[in-house]
Amino acid sequence: MRATVMFGAGDVRIETLPDARTIEPTDAVVVVSRACICGSDLWPYKTMEHSEAGRRMGHEAIGVIESVGADVRSVKVGDLVVMPFAYSDGTCTFCRAGLQTSCIHGGFFGVVGMEGAQAEAVRVPQADGTLVVLPVGEDDALMPSLLTLSDVMGTGHHAALAADVGTGKTAAVVGDGAVGLCGVIAAKRLGAEQIILLGRHPDRIALATQFGATDVVSERGEKAVERVRELTNGFGAHSVLECVGHDLSMATAVAIARPGGAVGRVGVPQHEQIPTTRKTFFDNVTIGGGPAPARAYIEELLPDVLEGRIEPGRVFDRVTDLDGVPDGYRAMDEREAIKVMIAF
Ligand SMILES: [Zn+2]
Repeated sequence: MRATVMFGAGDVRIETLPDARTIEPTDAVVVVSRACICGSDLWPYKTMEHSEAGRRMGHEAIGVIESVGADVRSVKVGDLVVMPFAYSDGTCTFCRAGLQTSCIHGGFFGVVGMEGAQAEAVRVPQADGTLVVLPVGEDDALMPSLLTLSDVMGTGHHAALAADVGTGKTAAVVGDGAVGLCGVIAAKRLGAEQIILLGRHPDRIALATQFGATDVVSERGEKAVERVRELTNGFGAHSVLECVGHDLSMATAVAIARPGGAVGRVGVPQHEQIPTTRKTFFDNVTIGGGPAPARAYIEELLPDVLEGRIEPGRVFDRVTDLDGVPDGYRAMDEREAIKVMIAF
């Protein structure tokens, strides 16, 4: 089968590899019909040291189950399924608490030593706990939005929950990538009255406005903080969704939280420390978030997607086949595309 492998910064190739197959009795093999490139894939794309073995890429997919191991019960061959970016058993103490990204038998797709979803097929460990059957046909027009349940929509929702978004509150979303845009959707869905997007790219701002952003702040650093204060009677936002992961974006997120507010961070941190500990202390600002348990949110978000109340699939502004994946990385890295979908 053919699959995406990254061999170092800027070096993404489509390689022919042995076919995906079940190894453990709890595995399933999914033939991928849709996958995509994630903003988090751009971190290794910028920084990965050269590796002879390479790293298989991709952690978001919809596909059809081709085979299952002997112990798989809740999904079967032929099912159309969505795969969250982490696999999980669905039964351990953390899964039962809705934190599948900490599953004691879990892990992540597309990391060193694991298979990736930017491929013709992928082995899914813990298939019963991980996969969710979709009640639609394979060519359904909802496919792009359903694909976002693998990661970006669940991640935006997680940021909104961690930031304690609620009815009538002000939410600020730091970052205008696909996760930030889904954060806008999530904040609106949870009842935020004012939604301030911190972003700079005209195409993304336009989409965010359609998703429900009421204000846009394109300044950076201290100027951005001033602008948000102006927009919030000098107080800052109740809820801040940090959807980037840079030290500057995290510093901005903390600085624009109002006293008693919360920051929900879902951008994979590229820094070692959370800034301005005194501000979070004296203003009683809560900092929460982490890798979204996307699996926990699929059932909750699925009806909204199926009934068209949210359209997170609009974050995909480019579609390619597998051969176009290396150029898709380039296009996202150069901010030419928001998010690239791979259709097989
Ligand atoms: Zn578990």
